[in-house]
Amino acid sequence: MDFDSLLDESAKIHGHLCPGQVLGVRMSMLGLKKICIKEPKGKDRKNIIVFVEMDRCATDALQSVTGCSLGKRTMKFMDYGKMAATFLNLKTGRAVRVIAREDSRDKAKEYFPEIENKYTAQLEAYKIMPDDDLFNIMDVNISIRPEDMPGRPLSRVKCENCGEYIQDMREIHREREVLCKPCAHGGYYMPGTDFLLPRAVQKSHNGLKIKSKLWIEIEGEPVFGRGRRFLLEAIDKHGSLNQAAKEISISYRKAWGYIKAMEERLSVSLVERQAGGKNGGGATLTNEAKEFLKKYEALENGIKEIVDEKFKRIFER
Ligand SMILES: [Zn+2]
Ligand SMILES: [Zn+2]
Repeated sequence: MDFDSLLDESAKIHGHLCPGQVLGVRMSMLGLKKICIKEPKGKDRKNIIVFVEMDRCATDALQSVTGCSLGKRTMKFMDYGKMAATFLNLKTGRAVRVIAREDSRDKAKEYFPEIENKYTAQLEAYKIMPDDDLFNIMDVNISIRPEDMPGRPLSRVKCENCGEYIQDMREIHREREVLCKPCAHGGYYMPGTDFLLPRAVQKSHNGLKIKSKLWIEIEGEPVFGRGRRFLLEAIDKHGSLNQAAKEISISYRKAWGYIKAMEERLSVSLVERQAGGKNGGGATLTNEAKEFLKKYEALENGIKEIVDEKFKRIFER
């Protein structure tokens, strides 16, 4: 396909025509040519892997022109924040890294001095500028691991903490445990029902934010709050105090201490322990505990919304 139809197609998939599409299409055409791939979506489709170094407009163009994608495991996202990509020919081993030149941004203006808008000038100029003005090229060696190749997953194991399954050797072996990455290092999510807007999209309201916290006391002594709620919920989920303590990142001793204190203050039994077993015995919630948890959840789930709503009403106008 020629440049114009490739650009048309990529702008359609991306949703708009932008300098990034032009650059991405040009980058892909150059990269493919250098590694001698003529039909990336046809007979060569199994012979190519592309490493992209940014998640920006041009990335969509790279996908559109090369036909490589994350889902097919033929596109690898390297989060470097650079306008660069590497094209690898799996048949010959030849790989080139194509890097957008920083000075091409200013040069674009020289091509179309009459166009006032910087982006329009770039968009038009990137279409006609010679490759050498747009890109630097580097021959590179790529070693790709078997577990990163397209094809069936090479392995499938269970995380001993959360019980979820992990494919393709992404698990972490720690001492005698097998863990998923979020359980081992912490993930991008936290179990919970707060549903706070991510910090990146929160409006700041001059930096004002509302926090609300709820706990239950008996004679001035705290008995139950969100932390205890998560502990009981985790025990209910895992059937083990040990696993529950792990999930909320406290020690077994501390978890047991909390339970004892709650039971004393509330004068009910909350957790039944069964001796023996791999994780030091199972633990289940008593009916009283489940009942209490249900009531507390009902109480807490409503409160945050009411407080947020009131905050909005008073501070956001
Ligand atoms: Zn764009
Ligand atoms: Zn896990």
